[in-house]
Amino acid sequence: MMLRMSDRTLLTGARVITPDSRTEPADVLIEDGRIAAVGPDLAADGAETVDLSGHVIAPGFIDVHVHGGGGHPLITTDPGEIEAYARWAVSQGVTSFLATVCAPTPEAALDCLAACANAREATDGAALLGVNLEGPFVSPERRGALPPSWPATPDIDTFRRLLDASGGKLRLMTVAPELPGSAEVISEALSAGVRISVGHTDATYEVARDAFAAGASHVTHAFNAMRPFHHREPGALGAALEAEGVTVEVIADGVHLHPATVRTLVGAFGPRRIALITDGVTPAGLDDGTFRIGDVEARLKDGEMRLPDGTIAGSVATMADVVRNVVRWDIADLAAAATMASATPAHALGLGERKGRIAPGYDADLVALTNDLSVTATWVAGSLVYRA
Ligand SMILES: [Zn+2]
Repeated sequence: MMLRMSDRTLLTGARVITPDSRTEPADVLIEDGRIAAVGPDLAADGAETVDLSGHVIAPGFIDVHVHGGGGHPLITTDPGEIEAYARWAVSQGVTSFLATVCAPTPEAALDCLAACANAREATDGAALLGVNLEGPFVSPERRGALPPSWPATPDIDTFRRLLDASGGKLRLMTVAPELPGSAEVISEALSAGVRISVGHTDATYEVARDAFAAGASHVTHAFNAMRPFHHREPGALGAALEAEGVTVEVIADGVHLHPATVRTLVGAFGPRRIALITDGVTPAGLDDGTFRIGDVEARLKDGEMRLPDGTIAGSVATMADVVRNVVRWDIADLAAAATMASATPAHALGLGERKGRIAPGYDADLVALTNDLSVTATWVAGSLVYRA
């Protein structure tokens, strides 16, 4: 890592999003990759000063569910693609992410996981926090755009092989808790330090409630690829609402969920339990065209990425887009949007003491935004890695 360990930087003149979701004028002192101080009129004291007048400084965005972007796939056997994504993602305010993997078969996922294990930490990009495995122990009936032969019956040996292939980087895994054998796999995963997300599931309210009681702590893209919320059968989302501390992914791209649905979710769960994600695919952030997603050809048109049969094939939004969307739809102010894009995803990964807040001791992962919410600069571990 090319971190210049003794570097000190003072960011001045901006408004800063505070840990209690206010936005107030303050300076931020960065020292040795971490936030050393936040407050009015900090002394430069030899630190390099950066004037950010007219900007808001938010904690860097953390995308816990993303398959690619900027033309770079994260589902790949080439570690270089993952490093290239990391260098691109900072232009969208992303400072860390989970490479989110699914594959044509569980066997085929092993090589993709090995690529994640072998990806080098980018010195000029977002930090790879680990792997999010979107299956394979998910419901064939609720697979959405996942490949047809990816869903598998829960099996501890298969789980162990996937975990080993990731080189210990597996952090999160989506499981459908109604499948036979899922309880054993969930328990095995939790004891290996892998967090469980309920998703791609046909689980009833009762089955999902039991999974949360057994330690599942997250929900994969609310409403998408799950039994719908019904007034007589509230399903996994109804169970999540009542399971204290469970966090819920929301794709606020304007395609996967109606803005009013996003507003309902934010109202019901609150920003501390909502993780904004992109579920982005390789062409996210690029112009319209035809792209290969795994084995199939998908078409990107007017912000929608669809398979030939019309299924939504992941989103083409970026984290900067989803943050802007919830603000422009009047669902949240920037401070609450930043909570959903940073503090909550950090908490969902058990990193809430290190990331997601602008406070002394926290990692200096920061993004500077203009008043119209364009990203103008991004810092990862105190290093300026992007400047518009
Ligand atoms: Zn996904």
